[in-house]
Amino acid sequence: MTMPDTAMPLPDAASLLETHLRGALAPVADWQRRFGPALPAPEETLAPERLAEVLAALGERLTADNYPFHHPRYAGQMLKPPHPVAMLAYMATMLINPNNHALDGGPATAALEKEAVAALAGMFGFAAHLGHLSASGTIANLEALWVGRALAPGRAIAHGAFAHYTHARMAEVLGLPAVSVAADARGRMSLDALEEALAGGRIGTVVATAGTTGLGAVDPIDRIVPLARRYGARVHVDAAYGGFYRLLAEPGAPEALAPEDAAAFRAIAGADSVVVDPHKHGLQPYGCGAVLFADPGVGRLYSHDSPYTYFTSAELHLGEISLECSRSGAAAAAFWATLQAFPLEAAAGFGPILGACRGAARRFTAALTAAGGYAVALPPALDIVVYWPLGGGAAAISAAAERVFEALMRDPEAPVYLAKIRLPRAWVETACPGAIAWGDETELTALRSCFLKPSHLAAAESLAARLTAALPA
Ligand SMILES: *Cc1c(COP(=O)(O)O)cnc(C)c1O
Repeated sequence: MTMPDTAMPLPDAASLLETHLRGALAPVADWQRRFGPALPAPEETLAPERLAEVLAALGERLTADNYPFHHPRYAGQMLKPPHPVAMLAYMATMLINPNNHALDGGPATAALEKEAVAALAGMFGFAAHLGHLSASGTIANLEALWVGRALAPGRAIAHGAFAHYTHARMAEVLGLPAVSVAADARGRMSLDALEEALAGGRIGTVVATAGTTGLGAVDPIDRIVPLARRYGARVHVDAAYGGFYRLLAEPGAPEALAPEDAAAFRAIAGADSVVVDPHKHGLQPYGCGAVLFADPGVGRLYSHDSPYTYFTSAELHLGEISLECSRSGAAAAAFWATLQAFPLEAAAGFGPILGACRGAARRFTAALTAAGGYAVALPPALDIVVYWPLGGGAAAISAAAERVFEALMRDPEAPVYLAKIRLPRAWVETACPGAIAWGDETELTALRSCFLKPSHLAAAESLAARLTAALPA
């Protein structure tokens, strides 16, 4: 394997787009021109000067008030730009603008979507699958819960206390009760609390989270699946954020996960459904979630008889197995192209990208704790670290966290961007017993960093040093 020459800086995303955009568009443009001229109608023509003005105005608006998600000094929320291969594929496909709601909306991108979804199914170890891309993780989760409701009408949804907030909201949309299951000291769904909920017999679907959004904790899916089965409940895995970490769950993978987390990821193969967001760790622009079902038979639940349905194929087409109607074919093309460039493998493609992210979280944690100014809530299971300044009671800690957050973001030379998280007292007392004097406080404001970019690996120690230097005197 040839390594990139580190003496020569790699081109940034904008340079890559400038270099390759023409090449990306050319095959599609040439194909379109074969149909004869199709120039814009007079109503749609735009004077070049006006176009330039509009784009300049947009450029001003985009840069006047924004955060540098692309830069390693942005270590806050789960945000980063897509990979240039995804942008180029998306732009080339936009010349066509296929709609993957049905085969006739774009047969080529429907085929690309099926291949990309099959690659995800392979990653999760599903022997068979039915699935598709979606607008987002929220919509993908809604679809999985909607299927769960059809199979267990009226029965409740059980999700972890740190599950994504949209599960409770989607349960409301579906008219189902939602049960929040307490977390253990590591922020994972407590098995005892889950069994208590299941024992009542009213749970239809258990939502396990493989990588919680706040703490990055991995629910013990390997224990949850058999437990839920014993009580006749389905298991849906919300791996919107963490799903791609399945690649690091093989023994011997670089930056392999802790054994219990690896076992949890491997157990997704035995769940009923899983959601993963290519627009989080899959290098995609927004508008790319995915839902996969282990039993292709759930396809029967989608039957509808819209007179607009297209039928040019005997195959069950994507529009027949999706809650949504219109969906971006360009999103499928972008994700497919990305998977060609970065396969879903542990040792090449996505594996090393995720390995660098997890490595960054671990390196940051080690440097931050060694310097002595912060407590870290948990050793990072994936690439999220939650931490707070040491010293004083809960109110003083929260205030110090706010001050560090503001001071680093307002630094005129080299701002550092973090996120904040409010942790409930009850959980912090379980996770870090006796560490904090609470007074009247019921929550702690902590700092949170998602190391979603492999470039964070090289920056981890300097970020930790910046945090230490920013502590209030
Ligand atoms: C981000 C996230 C969601 C929601 O996905 P969107 O794509 O933002 O709608 C759901 N669950 C988890 C665990 C997430 O991290």
